[in-house]
Amino acid sequence: MSINFNLKQISNWISYFFEKESFRNVEEKFNVRKEIIHEFISQFRKNPIKFFIALAYQDISLLKNPIEIKLLELLMIEKKRRNLKANKLVFLGMANLANYYWCAMKSYYKSKEGEEMFFGAYLVDRIMYALQLDYIKKIPKNPIELLEIGSQISLKDIEKILHKRNVVEKNINIITTHNIIVENGVEKIVVNPNLDENEKKFIIEEAKSNNIEIIDAEKHPLILGEMVETTKAEKYSTIRWNFEWKDFVLVGVPDGIANEFVYEFKTTGSEFLSHYVKPVASTQADLYGFFFNRNNKRVQIYLRDSGLTKTWEEEINKENVNDLLLKFEKIDRELPIAPKKWKCKSCEFFEICQISPLKNI
Ligand code: SF4
Repeated sequence: MSINFNLKQISNWISYFFEKESFRNVEEKFNVRKEIIHEFISQFRKNPIKFFIALAYQDISLLKNPIEIKLLELLMIEKKRRNLKANKLVFLGMANLANYYWCAMKSYYKSKEGEEMFFGAYLVDRIMYALQLDYIKKIPKNPIELLEIGSQISLKDIEKILHKRNVVEKNINIITTHNIIVENGVEKIVVNPNLDENEKKFIIEEAKSNNIEIIDAEKHPLILGEMVETTKAEKYSTIRWNFEWKDFVLVGVPDGIANEFVYEFKTTGSEFLSHYVKPVASTQADLYGFFFNRNNKRVQIYLRDSGLTKTWEEEINKENVNDLLLKFEKIDRELPIAPKKWKCKSCEFFEICQISPLKNI
């Protein structure tokens, strides 16, 4: 991205944009060449967050960097703004929280590890939706003003955006055919096992002709789950948003939000494993239903070995949500009960885990 603007220009143009709600006539008003304004507009529209961060920090070089460069610093400012300690876990994902019923300790470790990312999602959503809702009337002049953007967004506003998506996204059905991963600096390919045979053959032959190694999808359960979801899950619109519960900010994006219910879809290898996945899927749906204000949940688990999909439709269990949040809240003071040993065998937190029963053998 070539940066030909200075901060003062950017600040003037964006202010004018909010005032007039359009970039039209900026050329005349500021006596700037049309091409320069057009380049600026396209860069601003592609990534308004970068512009806001650069303006808040009064540092144009930030336009050249990924937004992640300031996330940790902003996270610390946000915690201070909320009168919370820097090491207190605040921003977490609902999916990680629901994993409490797979292993409570893992759910905590994953939440700690992912806090900066969930804070990033929180910040991006607030700014993007505030822009969409026309709530930004002045540009942020410091980090605090940046963090205040979007504070007036309500669940009603989120419903409004979701409704627009419902209209726009109706019948859109995007299937992920494959995913490229990088292992030890080498690109490899994971093919969606649910494609029809001809499609699979085509992708595999393409990969072979480009000397790209094909990896067994079962070795990458997260990628596999996401790919299978695009072929097997039901299609509903959805939206990512965050909700406060005591000191926590919970970020969630359901697999679907219909008028009467939230939808959660999971894949697992077998019927046996589905008994362990069900409490997680069901709780995740409870969290979504509770916070996005739906009374019912529709949960599906796709079994890869048999190709069957198990389906449940139930009322949202609000007590389950409350109970989970209260248990999770005290996890750093009171170690939880260990899960079944076999769950620790493939756990990425085994080395640091304080409770793994495998360590006592
Ligand atoms: S090692 Fe076992 S107990 Fe520890 S976090 Fe992982 S699954 Fe949970």
